[in-house]
Amino acid sequence: MSQEVKNAAAADSAAAPKKYRPTRAPRTAPNEELAAERARDFRPVDNGFTKADAIAEANRCLDCKKPFCMDGCPVGVHIPQFIEQIRAEDWGGALATIKDDNLLPSICGRVCPQENQCEGKCILGRKGEPVAIGQLERMLGDMADEVGQAPVCKPKNGKKVAVVGSGPSGIACAGALAREGFDVTVFEAFFTGGGVLTYGIPEFRLPKAIVKHEIASLEDLGVHFEYNSVAGRLFDADELFNDEGFDALYMAVGAGLPNFLNVPGENLPGIYTANEYLTRSNLMHAYNFPEYDTPIRHGKHVVIFGGGNVAMDAARTALRLGAEEVTLAYRRTEAEMPARLAEVHHAKEEGIKFLELVAPLEFIDDGQGRSASVAKVRLQRMELGEPDASGRRRPQPIEGSEFEIPCDVAITAIGTRANPFAKLCADVELNKWGLIEADENGRTSNPRVWAGGDIVTGAATVILAMGAGKKAAASIAETLLAE
Ligand SMILES: Cc1cc2nc3c(=O)[nH]c(=O)nc-3n(C[C@H](O)[C@H](O)[C@H](O)COP(=O)(O)OP(=O)(O)OC[C@H]3O[C@@H](n4cnc5c(N)ncnc54)[C@H](O)[C@@H]3O)c2cc1C
Repeated sequence: MSQEVKNAAAADSAAAPKKYRPTRAPRTAPNEELAAERARDFRPVDNGFTKADAIAEANRCLDCKKPFCMDGCPVGVHIPQFIEQIRAEDWGGALATIKDDNLLPSICGRVCPQENQCEGKCILGRKGEPVAIGQLERMLGDMADEVGQAPVCKPKNGKKVAVVGSGPSGIACAGALAREGFDVTVFEAFFTGGGVLTYGIPEFRLPKAIVKHEIASLEDLGVHFEYNSVAGRLFDADELFNDEGFDALYMAVGAGLPNFLNVPGENLPGIYTANEYLTRSNLMHAYNFPEYDTPIRHGKHVVIFGGGNVAMDAARTALRLGAEEVTLAYRRTEAEMPARLAEVHHAKEEGIKFLELVAPLEFIDDGQGRSASVAKVRLQRMELGEPDASGRRRPQPIEGSEFEIPCDVAITAIGTRANPFAKLCADVELNKWGLIEADENGRTSNPRVWAGGDIVTGAATVILAMGAGKKAAASIAETLLAE
């Protein structure tokens, strides 16, 4: 080859875009506070990725031709695209890519069970550790102010939609409709918005400022929030349609009615449902003592019953409220616990004791007569039998295995049910569990009413609730704009 031809070939290869080659670096470690230091206050456990962390992590992505990660995302976020934009340091573009499908990346990045969703499908996870997609999503969400994205809405179309409930499902629906030019009002029973994101999930996992910021960004889109507005008590669907001129209603009232253990002594002072305990701490600011002096019992020996995210949140909150010892009692084993892996890991790191294969038989008081409180709990050991309807092996009691442990505060976190308010608010068909019957687009038996989130599925996840809100918004828009 002549020197001239060699030079031309070299120039060509320099001009051609470099082929992307993923690094073989290990998964970027999270920036977590030390367990011993963080376990006694409500500071965030994880401080999130820096830009350098995000670029390093994005460089691990294999850029698969068929990206399975997207199949794992219930709202279909274009994950490979935003990862590529991170590599190019196009932060604004990456955030816009996520926000096309998910209005709440700061929240989902923090609380989604990624190990069962996007990260669970990442090819890298088959032999090693998946790309930390949740951390990347969270980091981009947190950059919204820095990259300054102005809300974009279509011109007003003259149609009005009411949303009842300001949890993730309600706000996802409200945001999507506002972008399409609808006039949206969210009616919320509490004095503040966010649903479980505010009253359930503690500050150390999801700071309230982030939820407030997301709600403010909906207000920037023109969504109007009416607080202290209990649908089914103060007004109902007919009034919204006939007196207030709304064209459609989306019901996203959640399923927050707690289940009980139904064992003797369960009504003793000192025994809370997780719902009440976490609401006192999060919404009524018991965590913010002494600024707020909210009544909540500070136990020495706190026992939590359950194995899901709610149980982990209650256990870790009790520790931060000053308990000497917090025990999580679960009737199956850790392998069957429905909580996110990260929560189980963090709870153990912080010193929560895990007592597997036990069920409560009875709460025993401290013998103080009329002013008695709970002092002990009597437990029975269990063993796992055949799988039940949920596919998990059924716990069965072992006769003669009873024992007692000290317990001056008990918190039950064994699931929740539908609140009967739904029926009072709108004439819609319910199933045998009191959940609203709705199709995959959220349509109910009432042609003007859509529903989604936990009130349709039963207690589920933030991202599923949001996905339902988004689908219902599309269905509402299609219906109303065709009229
Ligand atoms: C403690 C806890 C921790 C959790 N952790 C996780 C997690 O880590 N990851 C995850 O993915 N999921 C988690 N979940 C589950 C998740 O939060 C829920 O699946 C999700 O919030 C459901 O959203 P939603 O909008 O359907 O209902 P909700 O969030 O329950 O919101 C319903 C809203 O409707 C309002 N409302 C109810 N009735 C009325 C009425 N009559 N009128 C007006 N307003 C009304 C309520 O006040 C509430 O604000 C957790 C749940 C709890 C309780």
